[in-house]
Amino acid sequence: MAGKECDLFIIGAGSGGVRAARLAAQRGARVAVAETGALGGTCVNRGCIPKKLYSYAAHYAEAFEEAHGFGWPVQAPAFDWELLKANRAREIERLNAVYGAVLSTNGVTLLRGHARLVSPHEVEVGGERWHARHILVATGGHPLMPDLPGAEHAVSSDAMFDLPRFPRRLVVVGAGYIACEMASIFRGLGAQVTQLVRGTQLLRSFDDDVARFLALEMGKKGVELRLRTHVQAIERRDDGLRITLFDGQTLDADTLLHATGRCANTRGLGLQEIGVHLGPRAEVLVDEHYQSNLPSIHALGDVTDRVQLTPVALAEAMVLVDRLFGSGTSRMDYDFIPTAVFTHPSVGTVGWTEAEARTRFGTVRTYLSEFRPLKHTLSGVDERTLMKLVVDDASDRVVGLHMVGADAGEIVQGFAVALRAGATKAQFDSTVGIHPTSAEEFVTMREPVVA
Ligand SMILES: Cc1cc2nc3c(=O)[nH]c(=O)nc-3n(C[C@H](O)[C@H](O)[C@H](O)COP(=O)(O)OP(=O)(O)OC[C@H]3O[C@@H](n4cnc5c(N)ncnc54)[C@H](O)[C@@H]3O)c2cc1C
Repeated sequence: MAGKECDLFIIGAGSGGVRAARLAAQRGARVAVAETGALGGTCVNRGCIPKKLYSYAAHYAEAFEEAHGFGWPVQAPAFDWELLKANRAREIERLNAVYGAVLSTNGVTLLRGHARLVSPHEVEVGGERWHARHILVATGGHPLMPDLPGAEHAVSSDAMFDLPRFPRRLVVVGAGYIACEMASIFRGLGAQVTQLVRGTQLLRSFDDDVARFLALEMGKKGVELRLRTHVQAIERRDDGLRITLFDGQTLDADTLLHATGRCANTRGLGLQEIGVHLGPRAEVLVDEHYQSNLPSIHALGDVTDRVQLTPVALAEAMVLVDRLFGSGTSRMDYDFIPTAVFTHPSVGTVGWTEAEARTRFGTVRTYLSEFRPLKHTLSGVDERTLMKLVVDDASDRVVGLHMVGADAGEIVQGFAVALRAGATKAQFDSTVGIHPTSAEEFVTMREPVVA
């Protein structure tokens, strides 16, 4: 790369940044990427990957319990937190190296350090000034922490994967997917977990039946859910934390996880100084082409505070690179983005909730099935599965598909293709099920719920 110049300067080597860097370089662009932390960003280091690995770890506790019913009368050995942390760290280091290799083999210049915009075409990093035709801000987000007495004793999800000591007593504050996943995982690993929710339900943006059912199932697994409450103060004592709730009640814990939302990483980037418009949550405001109000500056992924998911950041990067260095014909469609919550049991969902569908389509039919999965007839575990379809009555199109149960993410991914393709309920009905599976229930539900 000649001098300190490039066609595309990317700030942030996370999901969106690395994908954009690779694709732009493969199209012949000269690309530089700046990164302050470990390669791979939130997903690899503090999000999806370590979370899913820990969820697998937590499932072993259930597996030991269930084994008896299947003729394996084993006793669960003691769980080794240090061993899990070390194995996770090794795998994440391997992934960091894979991300590094993706950049280097594609000829992308990697700059280590905090990058800051100094003009619409210039970025400073490590004392060097780079000139770029296009700049991409892909800096992700960070957890919001509370402003209350003793807040410094709370931790965010970032810290949960490497806690020095396994929390015997964990208090989780929040109702979103990260709070629910952490509550489930640490409960599975053996912690006594209390989840505090300010409102009246978990997973507010999900279908009401899903949220209600998940709360029951998590409760059966031992997560103590307390609704309509919040923390007033946190105090460190010799034997742990003393947490005072708004009504004066107290709780003792080893760790308090605060997981009530995330905020875009735009501080210290120089964006406002050069005139880039930010939104009320400090997110970079962009149009449908990921362009900010300054034509040379683009942003995507979590820093735009739209759909905060890795596959969305990846897809946005592909569309942007096509616009900057390709045909410019790609578009991102934000409808029917499937998603999973890796609670125990897990949640999988695609399309609209029943409430959203009623607002959007008017008359809808819903189909609901709640059952004990075959596996648990012998395991002795009292876990149930929920499946729900939401159908636009006028067109017969299935516009929402929701599940709480084992492997929900794996099952819903396939159905997401059908929903995007516009599958009707009649087409679901004409599809032969795979027996015996839980998934077959999605093509065998015949009677709508009577309102
Ligand atoms: C606990 C948790 C669990 C999650 N689970 C899932 C999941 O199961 N599935 C899913 O799809 N999504 C999940 N997510 C969300 C997912 O991780 C994000 O949507 C995704 O990582 C966003 O990618 P990004 O490229 O926008 O930002 P990031 O991946 O966060 O990358 C941004 C990068 O920019 C760097 N950076 C920031 N500022 C600067 C600067 N000034 N100079 C240089 N570098 C900078 C940061 O260090 C970071 O590496 C989870 C998130 C969390 C927190």
